[in-house]
Amino acid sequence: MADFRSDTVTQPTPKMKEFMFNAPLGDDIWGDDPSVNELEALGAEMFGKEAAVFCSSGTQTNQIAIKVHTQPGDEIICHEEAHIYRYEGGGIAYNSGVSVRFLRGNYGRINPDEIAAEINPDDQHHPITTMVSIEDTSNRGGGMVYDVNDIQRISEICKQHNLKFHLDGARVFNALAINGLTPKEYGAYFDTISVCLSKGLGAPVGSLLLGPADFIQKARRVRKVFGGAMRQAGIIASGGTYALKNHLDRLKDDHRRASQTAEILKEQNWVKEVLPVQTNIVVVLLQDGLDEYKVVEQLAKKDILCVPFGKKRIRLTTHLDLTDEDIEHLRNHVPKEMNA
Ligand SMILES: *Cc1c(COP(=O)(O)O)cnc(C)c1O
Repeated sequence: MADFRSDTVTQPTPKMKEFMFNAPLGDDIWGDDPSVNELEALGAEMFGKEAAVFCSSGTQTNQIAIKVHTQPGDEIICHEEAHIYRYEGGGIAYNSGVSVRFLRGNYGRINPDEIAAEINPDDQHHPITTMVSIEDTSNRGGGMVYDVNDIQRISEICKQHNLKFHLDGARVFNALAINGLTPKEYGAYFDTISVCLSKGLGAPVGSLLLGPADFIQKARRVRKVFGGAMRQAGIIASGGTYALKNHLDRLKDDHRRASQTAEILKEQNWVKEVLPVQTNIVVVLLQDGLDEYKVVEQLAKKDILCVPFGKKRIRLTTHLDLTDEDIEHLRNHVPKEMNA
């Protein structure tokens, strides 16, 4: 099987498993788990933030950030296809009672001029705008990376208007592999950052939320309320530490394989267009008349696994367990014709 469904399908490597198996453990709610403490310190240090908290998922880190940064009735600004809105089960409303102002942007990225125009004036009719969230790389945009100048401008706008600036960095290391910044240089633009350890980094579970010490202290309370405070969590956190120390350099291989995937697919007559590929995500627009579910099914019959990604779109993702052999398999087995 060439499994292009997601960069979340990876198995921990034998060395990662060994590292996890040997991780010293303690009760993290008491602050006693050395492996959780090590991961939190490492993540915070890397991005130049005061503190970090280890959480069970990227949904949890994003939702905790929104909860801490806002009050019920506030409004946050994000892209209309942002993960925090589209793929987190309505959590913005459910957990925080907050409304959302959507921006259209381009390839999942929002633009600084658009943001400035959508911040509500201080008037009792309007919800209070309190936060901007961006995704880098952007999932729905096909893994596109922000121009750092745009991020700098958004950061300045947020400071001017007293808004919190949050990064949904589920794939932040894929972005850093392209924009060339160090995590510290990049991290300085944001108040808070969510980093997934279980996507391209290949750890089995977890995400880090990074930010100022007082923010992280509040985030720990919210994590507890959300039922996400764990005990001997070092058994999984250590997988994240191993990934941060060993799996960053290899992301460029995922990016190369995604470009190869796009080249192969562009040549198929059932493909209308492939969105530009910068990182590890390939979004394919299908010819008119084709159904994304049926296309995914026909690819699966050839042992090529991918996912429907909205109307007449499919997504293929490269990752730690997707090899050059899988790319050759795609090249040799991709169906020449698709049945509608
Ligand atoms: C995967 C992902 C998340 C977090 O998802 P979980 O499945 O909850 O870990 C957040 N944002 C983006 C853009 C993602 O792709």
